[in-house]
Amino acid sequence: MDEQQPLHILFLPFLVPGHLIPIADMAALFAARGVRCTILTTPVNAAVVRPAVDRANDDALRGDAGGAPAIDIAVVPFPDVGLPPGVESGTALASEEDRGKFVHAIQRLREPFDRFMAEHHPDAVVADGFFTWSVDAAAEHGVPRLVFLGTGVFARSCQESMVRHNPVEACPDDDPDAAVSLPGLPHRVEMRRSQMIDPKKRPDHWAYFKMMNDADQRSYGEVFNSFHELETDYVEHYRTALGRRAWLVGPAAFASKDFAARGAAELSPDADGCLRWLDAKPHGSVAYVSFGTLSSFSPAEMRELARGLDLSGMNFVWVINGTADDTDASGQWMPEGFPELISPHGDRGLTIRGWAPQMLILNHPAVGGFVTHCGWNSTLEAVSAGVPMVTWPRYADQFFNEKLIVEVLKVGVSVGSKDFASNLENHQVIGGEVIAGAVRRVMGDGEEGAEAIRKKAAELGVKARGALEKGGSSHDDVGRLMDALMARRTSVDIWYVELYLT
Ligand code: UDP
Repeated sequence: MDEQQPLHILFLPFLVPGHLIPIADMAALFAARGVRCTILTTPVNAAVVRPAVDRANDDALRGDAGGAPAIDIAVVPFPDVGLPPGVESGTALASEEDRGKFVHAIQRLREPFDRFMAEHHPDAVVADGFFTWSVDAAAEHGVPRLVFLGTGVFARSCQESMVRHNPVEACPDDDPDAAVSLPGLPHRVEMRRSQMIDPKKRPDHWAYFKMMNDADQRSYGEVFNSFHELETDYVEHYRTALGRRAWLVGPAAFASKDFAARGAAELSPDADGCLRWLDAKPHGSVAYVSFGTLSSFSPAEMRELARGLDLSGMNFVWVINGTADDTDASGQWMPEGFPELISPHGDRGLTIRGWAPQMLILNHPAVGGFVTHCGWNSTLEAVSAGVPMVTWPRYADQFFNEKLIVEVLKVGVSVGSKDFASNLENHQVIGGEVIAGAVRRVMGDGEEGAEAIRKKAAELGVKARGALEKGGSSHDDVGRLMDALMARRTSVDIWYVELYLT
């Protein structure tokens, strides 16, 4: 291959916004360093990444890149697996049956992937961990696969320990509160049994997890939307103790200065009003409440959350999505007095329905705390904005992220969520008083420890921004990754040989 040609990287994101958004950000980050990027995805998901891609290409037109668009989107049809037209995202699945069809579609995307690889032969593939087949598919084309899991190195290390040692298996079945230690990590990490995947209760989930872990180990390396200073001990652990190649290139959200152009073709009609409302509020006085794109809460949980926000005495902006979104449903959960609180007359709070400009909100000086489900993007976005968190994990990597936030980084307070459960299952209802207490412990004046939490969060925010600047750790990691991929053009890579010999 011509060594003068820019590197070409193919990105294959999982079909949910929480993975598409950081992949688009990462492509913009790489494109700004002269890499040609292609994102392969389906029509509905292309619309999610398009605003960030258009923005990056506009930047390239204005910059020194000679005007060539830096990022392409290779739009391929969503496989016909019996889902209704337009249902192409993990956020749109209404039943277990739909989920099964969606998983099938994920497998079927191998066909367009193979076609792209044969035609374009990129230098590397950044493939989401959910596409387990991509490790062999990329190897068949002689292309290194970099895995992206949409999580941090801390959570990844916890998952690795969990899969390797399976400590839940040794716990008494009947005690959901039993302590489970994760061996081999730099800190003592102890979870409750109920906060972890139970291999006996969820054998399919567990098997998929093991398959992903195996595919990740056979990959060339792993890219993280994170930065070295955030989880230093775990980067060391990952690279040295586990012997993995890892590049930390985040926080990728800062690839674009246009925070509004992320994740959705259309912002909520409430967005402008919300930003104006924040302008009128005192510094650090507003709690921002949002649980990402996949988590939904029962009416009983919504009711207690509304009570908790009221009792906390803080101002708040609450992004309401899912079934609670429609006005009919609000009758089921809105406690007495809450409509007045969010009326112009009460002026304590604001609700947003639809897509909120989360990065703009978190970086607004009026925001002093973030009530979050601990999705990795939300976690990193809060860290980068220097905003402390009230943590309320539900499933996936969220309980591990909570450990990092509360116990390792000490930039948050937990509401005490105990049960790892999907949206289709019941969650314990957390009382309004508990929620209010956690919000006050992060944002309140004179609350014990609150000052220290806020100070730490602000310090981390400065480090996050520094990581992407020239000479910063993530800036350097991007450079190292580019160098490694460039060097492969001229050498036979031992990794490729190993893959076939082991
Ligand atoms: N997000 C947003 N506006 C919304 C809802 C979500 O900008 O109204 C973005 C948020 O900033 C983050 C992503 O969507 O980048 C959600 O990812 P996360 O990992 O936090 O949670 P998930 O949705 O994957 O559970």
